[in-house]
Amino acid sequence: MKLYSRLTILLVALLLLVELAVAAKDYYKILGVQRSASKREVKKAYRELSKRYHPDKNPNDPKAEEKFTELAAAYEVLSDDEKRRIYDQYGEEGLKQGGGGFRNPHDIFSQFGFGGFGHHHHQEKKGPSIHMTLDVTLEDLFKGDSIEVEINKQIICPTCRGSGAKRAEDVKTCHVCQGSGVKIVRQMLAPGMYQQMQTTCDACSGRGKVVKSKCPACSGHKVMRGSHQISIDIERGMADGQRITFEGEADESPDYTAGDVIFTIRTAPHPVFTRRGDNLYMKEHISLKEALVGFTREIKQLDGSAVKVERSGITPQGLFTSHFGLLAEVDMA
Ligand SMILES: [Zn+2]
Ligand SMILES: [Zn+2]
Repeated sequence: MKLYSRLTILLVALLLLVELAVAAKDYYKILGVQRSASKREVKKAYRELSKRYHPDKNPNDPKAEEKFTELAAAYEVLSDDEKRRIYDQYGEEGLKQGGGGFRNPHDIFSQFGFGGFGHHHHQEKKGPSIHMTLDVTLEDLFKGDSIEVEINKQIICPTCRGSGAKRAEDVKTCHVCQGSGVKIVRQMLAPGMYQQMQTTCDACSGRGKVVKSKCPACSGHKVMRGSHQISIDIERGMADGQRITFEGEADESPDYTAGDVIFTIRTAPHPVFTRRGDNLYMKEHISLKEALVGFTREIKQLDGSAVKVERSGITPQGLFTSHFGLLAEVDMA
């Protein structure tokens, strides 16, 4: 009896596996979003649907539970930039291979052990980084600030998500190279003597995939010009020359992971204050009379607050005074 039930469970499990393998899942359809959906839209769709199909709300309903699991799987992929990129390019298969590298013709190529061929494209390849100077004022560094910057860059076409195809079904395996991206050419050197050479498949330019109808938004180019707004947080006391890195904000491409945008802080000179480390310095001119009998000054700080500087008696030239760093100079004129 026990053995029997165990066998049934095993059988059911096997059947489930078969079913999983057969049905290619469209994660976008599962979540009911467009391919161009933003991260926020994906999140919103998942939140709504997962609530609706939650097992707590649908007790003893295996269909709802299945749907709930499906939603989680779809969300896991579409909410992760890297996984979504691989999924868009290589489908579910690409994800199962543990990365996008598998379908890359050059990787398949090296798996076959041919080796020795020039350019190696790896899916993990990172694009070039963009270096930018971020001009800030001393006030910005003193008070801290948030600066919105618009970055003009190459973006992956939001309509086709970098596949270059009108619909997901329009991406087909290249029939010339059967998706390997390479073809073998035999060349006769002398009668009975052949040289076997491997070249990039020209039908698909080595991609292994061909697009049946092109995406109308990018004309099949997969990328387009676009912009992205980022918010740079200037923290209080940041140093001149300090770098702020935004990972993956440089030019996007389906062929590589976007590089970083790196900002280097450059402080504009301030008419009153200079910075030395974490201290602010300023020069204040006083008259000879003030140098002899004392003086009172109210100095406006960088945040607008007033700081009172008081001296009684003689103030020598170049005296460094107060908590706030004041360099008093005797004005002899
Ligand atoms: Zn497109
Ligand atoms: Zn091909």
